[in-house]
Amino acid sequence: MKECRPRRRRSQQIGIALRHAAPLLVAVADLALPAANRVDPRATERNQMVEEQIHARGITNKLVLEAMRRVPRHNFVAPHLQSQAYNDHPLPIGHGQTISQPYIVALMTEMLDLKPGERVLEVGTGSGYQTAVLAEITTNVYTIEIVKPLYELALKQLKTVGFPEDHVRLGDGYLGWEEKAPFDAIIVTAAPDHIPPPLVEQLKPGGRMVVPVGRSQETQHLVVVEKDADGHMKTRTLLPVRFVPLTGDAQPKN
Ligand code: SAM
Repeated sequence: MKECRPRRRRSQQIGIALRHAAPLLVAVADLALPAANRVDPRATERNQMVEEQIHARGITNKLVLEAMRRVPRHNFVAPHLQSQAYNDHPLPIGHGQTISQPYIVALMTEMLDLKPGERVLEVGTGSGYQTAVLAEITTNVYTIEIVKPLYELALKQLKTVGFPEDHVRLGDGYLGWEEKAPFDAIIVTAAPDHIPPPLVEQLKPGGRMVVPVGRSQETQHLVVVEKDADGHMKTRTLLPVRFVPLTGDAQPKN
């Protein structure tokens, strides 16, 4: 038997067709966006940061550029500062500390010449942003922070991206992390006035360390330390920088 439906006028039929089509059109338009933009509305800002502040200034290591494109920097700063997260400058993270300028994070990471699987120590977890960038390149990242509330906040944030809790430590990074040594690479994100001997000790032969060196009131320089196969140390000075001081045992005793 033939199905019997009331006849509709043509304009009614078009209206019905459009009502059904509308959600489909939205879905198709959404699919036209790059995947990253659909889940992260700040992906465009971040890609722009990488192109204009980092790649344009000479950072070419693909692992570093990709890591900087992937880590959502805005999640590592307070909500009221998130709109500035991709600007070309450091931002306050509380307790007199800062999250470094994106270019400096990228430059220091590039200087580490990190390969997947290598073991790296970060001294000065701060917000956890640099930690997350390193963790995009190798799963063997260890990080130490001396200020307890910053350690707690960074730990919470890093746990949300699956970073292992026991790779984050509260303590004095001047002394390194002896139980986890030796390291292929060490990055120090606060400035001592000399290269910390315990960190040189914990570097593997063939290892690299990047550290800003200088007193806080004077010009500091970013220094790359390389330990050769015989354990001899070679240093290279890159550029003048401004970092917060490394505290703890790095400070002279009175
Ligand atoms: N890497 C951080 C980031 O991505 O947010 C930036 C860190 S901020 C420039 C320097 C950090 O080093 C601060 O959080 C500070 O508390 C920490 N710090 C200073 N002296 C330290 C020490 N002796 N051991 C461990 N952390 C230290």
